[in-house]
Amino acid sequence: MAKIIDGKQIRDSVLDRLREQVSALKAGGKNPCLCVIIVGDDAASRVYVNNKKKACESIGIESKEYALPESTTTEELLDLIDKLNADSSITGILCQMPVPAHIDSKAVLERISPYKDVDCFHPFNVGKLSQGDNVFLPCTPAGMVEMLDYMGVEITGKHCVIIGRSDIVGKPMAMLMLQRDATVTVCHSKTKNLADITRTADIVVVAVKKPYFLKSDMIKEGAVVLDVGINRNAEGKICGDVDFEDCKEKASMITPVPGGVGPMTIAMLMNNTVIAAKTF
Ligand code: NAP
Repeated sequence: MAKIIDGKQIRDSVLDRLREQVSALKAGGKNPCLCVIIVGDDAASRVYVNNKKKACESIGIESKEYALPESTTTEELLDLIDKLNADSSITGILCQMPVPAHIDSKAVLERISPYKDVDCFHPFNVGKLSQGDNVFLPCTPAGMVEMLDYMGVEITGKHCVIIGRSDIVGKPMAMLMLQRDATVTVCHSKTKNLADITRTADIVVVAVKKPYFLKSDMIKEGAVVLDVGINRNAEGKICGDVDFEDCKEKASMITPVPGGVGPMTIAMLMNNTVIAAKTF
């Protein structure tokens, strides 16, 4: 039976560490402040934004919110970002994605100052990451690395297979694991003989957006399994991309959904917010 990697417990330990750093920053006259922009009234986005604000509050970071109507234009949003970039009291900025379809999301992400880019989505920070010279960490991948470290999993020299090559999970996870000297394979929808590859993995990261995609016959005995997926199953319950019940006997460690990778993403956003205030 695999050890369950408890994302909430690890998140809390990260937040405890950050709370101390925030009070030291404040004592030194630096006040971290995260500004969150939300456009439209997508219910899931509203939950994410509220959770981010709550996390800020829990560790003493000030947060500001700009809730803009669905009808906001790209130009209006870019003007607001320019204003926030120029405001020295704001140390971190994020725009909750997705924005309404008529808004140019790429232009928005590129307009946020790279020095306030706490989501680590700006091409400058993505480039720095690929050079191993990053200041900010990509939140979801960094959360998984934090989990591996917390659980004492050796990363150096291990084969990490990542299923999924998105800009927010698969690709940046590959960069972080390379920085930690893993041997990395990235798979995607055109990968041939996927199970043959995943069965060679010491660490499997699954980010495919498909409920119960990874089965026990796709992993080797003792693999560490990290499930990024957040889906709803046929009964409407939240589930991951891993068939947890099937894989838990064969894996040595596994993340549940909910309560696994998800809570870590916000913790690492808080980490970036502290880094921004400390560094720039
Ligand atoms: P995405 O952009 O839709 O990417 C999915 C990836 O899976 C793509 O690279 C796709 O390949 C690959 N894929 C699809 N079907 C496949 C198959 N049959 N075999 C192999 N690869 C396949 O998704 P994402 O944004 O990375 O998100 C993935 C999941 O993680 C979602 O459930 C999302 O909700 C969740 N998520 C959770 C967090 C968190 O904080 N826990 C954060 C971000 C995302 P192609 O590139 O070839 O299309």
